[in-house]
Amino acid sequence: MEFGFGEQDEVFRGEARAWLEAHIGRFAGVVGRGGPGSEHEGGAERRAWESELGSGGWIGIGWPEGGYGNRVATLTQQVVWAEEYARVRAPGRYGHIGENLLAPTLLAHGSEEQRRRFLPPIARGEELWCQGYSEPGAGSDLASLRTSAARDGDGRWRVSGQKVWTSLAHEADWCFVLARTEPGSRRHHGLSFLLVPMDQPECVDVRPIRQLTGTSEFNEVFFDGAVAESVVGGEGSGWRVAMGLLGFERGVSTLAQQIGFQEELRGVVRDAVASGAVRDPVIADRIVRLWAELRTMRWNALRTLGGAENAGAPSVAKLLWGGWHQRLGELALRVRGAAAAVGAGDWTADAPYELDEQQRLFLFSRADTIYGGSDEIQRTIIAERVLGLPREAL
Ligand SMILES: Cc1cc2nc3c(=O)[nH]c(=O)nc-3n(C[C@H](O)[C@H](O)[C@H](O)COP(=O)(O)OP(=O)(O)OC[C@H]3O[C@@H](n4cnc5c(N)ncnc54)[C@H](O)[C@@H]3O)c2cc1C
Repeated sequence: MEFGFGEQDEVFRGEARAWLEAHIGRFAGVVGRGGPGSEHEGGAERRAWESELGSGGWIGIGWPEGGYGNRVATLTQQVVWAEEYARVRAPGRYGHIGENLLAPTLLAHGSEEQRRRFLPPIARGEELWCQGYSEPGAGSDLASLRTSAARDGDGRWRVSGQKVWTSLAHEADWCFVLARTEPGSRRHHGLSFLLVPMDQPECVDVRPIRQLTGTSEFNEVFFDGAVAESVVGGEGSGWRVAMGLLGFERGVSTLAQQIGFQEELRGVVRDAVASGAVRDPVIADRIVRLWAELRTMRWNALRTLGGAENAGAPSVAKLLWGGWHQRLGELALRVRGAAAAVGAGDWTADAPYELDEQQRLFLFSRADTIYGGSDEIQRTIIAERVLGLPREAL
């Protein structure tokens, strides 16, 4: 497909760049923060940045026109925005889950009333969301989840059960929860997609999980009779809605992610040149391979966004970027040599070690082949849905 930037895109770029340059200065403390291994950093300031983006009309630019408070941008303009955003190293987005996962789900499966209620506060950067799918014992095999919901005497849904690995639950105002609403139902039947306010201190308990990076970006979440305010797609349709949402995990945000990757690769190259490590032919070879693979991923993503028909495309993309990012993390440390193994700072119970950007990249990227569907699961999808191999016995 032809994918170039036209005159209108360049006008849009000028507007995006001017806005970012005029506004990012007040958020200097979180510039370049919120990426791999620092997702937990900058709490109040990053929340304020979300509101700033919202007041500039920069949230939800990929949504259609519907009076939800978002500006509407073409596909190429969305790419332009992602490029400009990465160029000024604006903070990692706290609002990503609401903007890029929940919103498209409501647009596809929600009622107009739900869209009117939930999309405008996401567009204003006011309400943050988290994703309540995984449970102890239900990760790759999500259909074995045990969290349930039942109606109380007033007809309201009450959710009980435990979710785990819930990114940003400690910041979120809302959680979309996949729960069993039909007692006795099995696997993917009898599930519903519920919208649950997190501010229910008696019934929602968020407990941080310490990660390999020493920080806590994700959590365990315990629901004990928490009220759900809405069911998306109708009672019992949760599996269809939940799977539809996973399809939105990629899209233009893949391109934005790749722009972030490009910046990280540049950082590794800078390190390698500064230290002279680039004269090691193995390191030089790896840099060039990573660069070429990143170009391939970009064309692949553009082709998919351009509507190229391919049932396995999201799985192929996930396999490519997960492995790529891990190899980048490994190279980042190899460039440093033995010194990369040493953490800075004093050892305390709260912060056992201080990590720099490259060390965080290496440690965090171990997770890239797990979340959003592990590599093994992506290969199973390709085997079954693309190659037509026999289905896995469950
Ligand atoms: C950084 C991070 C953020 C996350 N954020 C969220 C979030 O916000 N919300 C949320 O709901 N979840 C989140 N998750 C959870 C994530 O979706 C799960 O970790 C993932 O689905 C894998 O599930 P699991 O951890 O239970 O591992 P398991 O499913 O127990 O898998 C363990 C291993 O067995 C392999 N395996 C499992 N089944 C098969 C099979 N059938 N065939 C071959 N191999 C198999 C897996 O590939 C993996 O290597 C996050 C995870 C991470 C790492």
